[in-house]
Amino acid sequence: MMKIENLPKIFMQAMPVLKKLEDAGFEAYFVGGSVRDLLLNRHIHDVDIATSAYPEEVKELFEKTIDTGIKHGTVTVLFNRESYEITTFRTESGYQDYRRPDHVTFVQNLDEDLKRRDFTINALAMNTDGEVIDLFNGLEDLKKRVIRAVGNPETRFHEDALRMMRAVRFMSQLEFNLEENTQQAIKDNHKLLQKISVERIRDEFVKMGLGPHSRQAFQIFLDTKLSENVPDFAGKSNLLAVFPSLKFNPTLETSLWSIIIILLKLPNNKITGFMRDWKNSNATTDSVERIVELFDLLAERIPSDYELFKIGQDTLLNTIDVAHILGQPIDSKVLVDRYTSLPIKNASELAIDGRFLIQQGVRPGPKLGIMLDKIKEKVVSNELDNSEVAIKKFIKEQN
Ligand code: ATP
Ligand code: MG
Repeated sequence: MMKIENLPKIFMQAMPVLKKLEDAGFEAYFVGGSVRDLLLNRHIHDVDIATSAYPEEVKELFEKTIDTGIKHGTVTVLFNRESYEITTFRTESGYQDYRRPDHVTFVQNLDEDLKRRDFTINALAMNTDGEVIDLFNGLEDLKKRVIRAVGNPETRFHEDALRMMRAVRFMSQLEFNLEENTQQAIKDNHKLLQKISVERIRDEFVKMGLGPHSRQAFQIFLDTKLSENVPDFAGKSNLLAVFPSLKFNPTLETSLWSIIIILLKLPNNKITGFMRDWKNSNATTDSVERIVELFDLLAERIPSDYELFKIGQDTLLNTIDVAHILGQPIDSKVLVDRYTSLPIKNASELAIDGRFLIQQGVRPGPKLGIMLDKIKEKVVSNELDNSEVAIKKFIKEQN
């Protein structure tokens, strides 16, 4: 049995929680992603705990708990300013419609719990002595760097079709290959993905798209035809096939969506609809629209100073990132230098405001807004000094 000697701090901090469960006569283990990431020497963001104790029993043992998902057996325990998800050993049964299980059944041993997990590398557990429990050769698969379904892949994808997206997501994040039978089962069952909610597909898609092997994973996403079962991608594999040959992989969500939209050659009036179809937030949608618009503009010409001012730093830098990933030659140095030398970057940096204009005799109303914009444009374009004196003079000249 493999035993880890010097456990990282994040596990040691959680140890009293497991010990407390054990002292009360229950079993408790670290499970899932944290054990996998420990063995891969990857950053561990949180440790999940599995136990033989029922949720009510967990709640009795700890002072501060939150009912996170009592029905599914999960209680969050707050301990020493950290929070831990503690889930009762369970199996999942009655997968009615290729989605989440209808109900979970609590079980008394770890083995049953590990069996329901998606991939061998995610089905590892570790006890309080640092000993790794590996029922499905997950350790070997970690070494071989493959994603392999626990048990029969076909059955597992019928139980929960989201696992097919999780497979390509982990490929990308971990820089792993997909085991042959697992890949074949995805190819044979890709249509099941249609049963899964867009939000859950999107979360996995974004994680795939932003992982270090996103281009390799995207190729499998296309090859297995998973791509035919997600919003607005059906019949577009020839356009999307460019993704695997991009210069770099995207690291920003807004860059990812912008690149997809550019590859799909979506006209401007289809972008909002596309982002909505994927259930993206309004904020993400707005950013992506601005980026794609600027990307198109840059293919034609360099924006004026006032345009750059209105575009703003975030959109500018994000669009440069997109162009860089797409291998689109743009003079980013000129753009950034021009932006950096703008006399003001924000309307609030203007020496005057609407109130000042009124004091100078400008009547409140639409004219005032137009005047303010004109002043802004002149200041940004270096045609007017950003000072009260100069602006006062300018207003006088307008009358
Ligand atoms: P991450 O680093 O992204 O959090 P993770 O492996 O912790 O990776 P989670 O989605 O947080 O992934 O799930 C925690 C664990 O629960 C997984 O490691 C796996 O054992 C199990 N799991 C999660 N989703 C599924 C699923 N759809 N089918 C089977 N097991 C699953
Ligand atoms: Mg996790």
